Amino acid sequence: MTTRQQTSIVSIGNIKIGGNNPIAIQSMTNTKTKDVESTVNQILQLEQLGCDIIRVAVLDKEDALAIQQIKKNIHIPLVADIHFDPELAILSIQSGVDKIRLNPGNISDKNKIKEIVTLCKEKNIPIRIGVNSGSLPKGMPLTAESMISAAKHHIDILEELDFHNIVLSLKASSIELSIAAYDLASKTFPYPLHIGITEAGTAFKGLITSSIGLSKILDMGIGNTIRVSLTDDPKYEVMAAKIILKELGLKQNIPTLTSCPTCGRTQIHLIPIAKQVEEYLQTIHKNIHIAVMGCAVNGPGEAKEADLGIAGGIGEALIFKKGKIIRKIKEENILEELKKEIDAL
Ligand code: SF4
Repeated sequence: MTTRQQTSIVSIGNIKIGGNNPIAIQSMTNTKTKDVESTVNQILQLEQLGCDIIRVAVLDKEDALAIQQIKKNIHIPLVADIHFDPELAILSIQSGVDKIRLNPGNISDKNKIKEIVTLCKEKNIPIRIGVNSGSLPKGMPLTAESMISAAKHHIDILEELDFHNIVLSLKASSIELSIAAYDLASKTFPYPLHIGITEAGTAFKGLITSSIGLSKILDMGIGNTIRVSLTDDPKYEVMAAKIILKELGLKQNIPTLTSCPTCGRTQIHLIPIAKQVEEYLQTIHKNIHIAVMGCAVNGPGEAKEADLGIAGGIGEALIFKKGKIIRKIKEENILEELKKEIDAL
C-alpha cells in the first residue's frame, strides 16, 4: 500500500483527520438545512451507510440556527458551508457546528475574519478553505499553480492571525487538473486535504470520473477526507466512497460483494438478488466477502475466495462458504437465508 503523505492533524468533532488517521468519508445533504426533520433524516441514513462527516449549506440565518437542532439529533460531525457572509459563520459556530467551510479571502471586513478566527480558536473548530477551478479569480489561467496561489491567498489570511487549524480542498472537474493541484498542494502546505472531483456528473458518469480521479490521488498517498460528488441521492456518494477506499485497501470494515455478470447459464433471477444483497450489505460494517453467482457450474469455484456465497440452480441455489457447498435453498428464500448467514459471519 502507498505510504500516506504526512499532514498536520485536525479534529472535527470527535473525528481526527490527517497524519495516519483513517481517511474519512464525507457527503453533503441536499435538503434545505432549515428543514430540520428532512435534514436529520437524511444525515441519519448517511450515518448508517458509513458517512463519517456531513456538510450542510448555510444560506441564511434560519439555516445557521437550525444547526442547533440538527446537532442534537445526529452522531457525526457537522460542517457548515458558508459563502461570503461572516455573520452566518459566526452564527453557525455559536450554534455548535464542528467545522466551517469558508474562504476568508472572500470576506472584505478584516475585523469579522478576526472574530471568526477567535471563535474557532476558542472552540477548536477547523476551517476548510475550498478552492474550485470554476471560481478562480478573473484572469488567472486554469492551472494547478493558479489553484495553489488562490489557496495560499486564503491560507495567508488565517496564518497571519496565527490560525493553523486548517483543511484544504482544491476541486476541479478535470481529473488531470485535480491530480496536479492535489499533488502540488501536498508538497506546498502541511494541512490535511479533502479530496474530490467536483461536478463529476450523474451517478453513472460521476462514479466513473470520481473513481478514476480519486484512486489516482489516493494512490499518491494524498487525501485525508474524501467526497464522491454526484448529481444524485447523497447515499450513493457514501456507498461509492466506501467501495473506492475498500478496493484500494484503505478501509477494511466494509463488505466486498462479487457477483457474476450473468450469462446463458444463469439459472435464477440473479440481477435483483444481487442488488438486494448489495443494499443489505450497506449497513454491515465488517470485512467480509460475499459472492452472488448465477450457476453452480462455475459459481462456487469462481467465488472460492468469498466467505459466503450462493450459486443459482433451477428454482434453487447452493449456499457455499469458501467455495465449499454447505446446503441447498429455494430461490424464493435466497435473500432471507443469505442475510442470516451474513449476520452469523
Ligand atoms: S457464474 Fe455461471 S451464470 Fe454467472 S457468468 Fe459465470 S458461468 Fe455465467
